[in-house]
Amino acid sequence: MNRKVISNQYSRRKFIRDLSLNAGMAALAMNGMNLFSSCNDDDSKEKNKGAGKKDPNKLGIALVGLGGYAGGQLAPALQQTKDCYLAGIVTGTPSKIDIWKKKYDIPDKNVYNYQNFDSIKDNPDIDIVYVVLPNSMHAEYVVRAAKAGKHVITEKPMAIKAEDCDRMIAACKEAGKMLSVGYRLHFEPYNLEMARLGSQKVYGNIKKMSAGFGFTIGDPTQWRLKKAMAGGGPLEDLGIYCIQGFCYTMGADPIAVTAQEGPKTDKEKFKEVEQSITWQLEFPGGIIGEGKASYSDSMNFLKAEAEKGVFELTSAFNYAGQRGDTPAGDMDFPKVNQQAKQMDDFAQAIKNKRPTIVPGEMGRRDVKIIQAIYKAMESGKRVEIG
Ligand code: NAD
Repeated sequence: MNRKVISNQYSRRKFIRDLSLNAGMAALAMNGMNLFSSCNDDDSKEKNKGAGKKDPNKLGIALVGLGGYAGGQLAPALQQTKDCYLAGIVTGTPSKIDIWKKKYDIPDKNVYNYQNFDSIKDNPDIDIVYVVLPNSMHAEYVVRAAKAGKHVITEKPMAIKAEDCDRMIAACKEAGKMLSVGYRLHFEPYNLEMARLGSQKVYGNIKKMSAGFGFTIGDPTQWRLKKAMAGGGPLEDLGIYCIQGFCYTMGADPIAVTAQEGPKTDKEKFKEVEQSITWQLEFPGGIIGEGKASYSDSMNFLKAEAEKGVFELTSAFNYAGQRGDTPAGDMDFPKVNQQAKQMDDFAQAIKNKRPTIVPGEMGRRDVKIIQAIYKAMESGKRVEIG
C-alpha cells in the first residue's frame, strides 16, 4: 500500500506549540478554570535568583525521590533542557547521594533528605521542586514545597483523592507559585496530532474512542501493588494515560462512566488492587471512550473513529517510539525528549508568567475521573462525574 507520509517540519513545530497551548487553555476554559490564578509571582524575588547558580539563565530543579523515573528519565532529560537544569536532590537513601552528586555535579548545599527538606526555602539555587515519589506522598511534598516558596511539578496521578488535589492547588496559590503535573504527552507530537485531529474535527465528529495501556508487573512487593501508596492498580498508573488521551482527543471533559474489574489470575499479587479494569467514559453527545488498563497484558494504543475515518496511535504512551496513522497516511513526526520539553515548558511558563498547559486543575480533573471509575466498578452503576 502506497500511503502518503504526513510531514511538514517547520509549520508542524509552530503548530504543535500553538496547539499545546491552545488545547490546554481551551480545555481549562471549558471548565471555567481560572488560568492565571496560580501565576502571580513576585517580580523582584525572581530577578535575584540565579546569582549563585551553575547556570544563572536556567531555573534550578530539585528532584524529590530518586527512583526509576527520576533516575531513568528526568535526570537524563535535564541534561538536554534549555530553560532549567538539575540543581538539587532530595532523597531518603544516603547511598544514592554520592552517585548522583558525581554524575550530575550537584553541590553538597543542594542535597536534602525528607527531614530537612523544608529548609530548601533558603536555597536560591532551587526554583522548582519536582515530586517523583509514590502517589500517596505527592500531596505532602507538594504542599511542603509550596510552603518553602518553590514552584512545583508533581508526578501523575496528582494524588489519590480530589481533596488532596484541592490542598495542593490551594497551597501553591497561597504561596503565589505555579503547580504542574508531569503530563509529558502534552509535549509529544503524535499525541498532539491526535488532539488536533479530534478537537478540530478534521475527520468530522468523533463517533467512538478506545485506548489501552498495560504491561506485566514484576516485583510483587512494590508500592504500585499497595493500595495505600498507589491508590489503586493499573488504572492509577496506566489508565490515566487513556483518560488523558480521550480528553485531549475529544477536546472535552467526560460526564459519566461505567466500569468493570477484570478477573484476577494472581490473587496473591493483586490482593489489594485490580489486576485489570475496563471502563466506558461518556462524553457530551454520548460519545464513549472505551478504556482498558492492565498489569498482566501488554497494550499501548489510542484510537478515534470519526465520521470520515479512523485516526489512531498504535504505539501511544511510551517515552518514545510513537506510531500513528490517519485516513491521509501514516504520521511522521520528529523524535522529541518528552520530559525535557515538559520541564522546559514549565520553566518558560514561570519565566514568562503564563499558565502551564498541564496545571494542577487538570491533575485534579483526572483524579476525580479515576475516583468515579472506581466507584462505578464497585457499584456496577453509571457514575456521573461532578
Ligand atoms: P520508584 O519506586 O522507582 O521510585 C520511588 C522513589 O520514592 C524511590 O526513590 C523511593 O526510594 C522513594 N520513596 C520514598 N519513600 C518511599 C516509600 N515509603 N515507599 C516507596 N518508595 C519511597 O517509582 P517511580 O517509577 O520512579 O514512580 C514515582 C512516581 O513517578 C509515581 O507517582 C509514578 O506514577 C510516576 N511516574 C511517572 C511516569 C511518567 O511517565 N510520567 C513514569 C514513571 C513513574
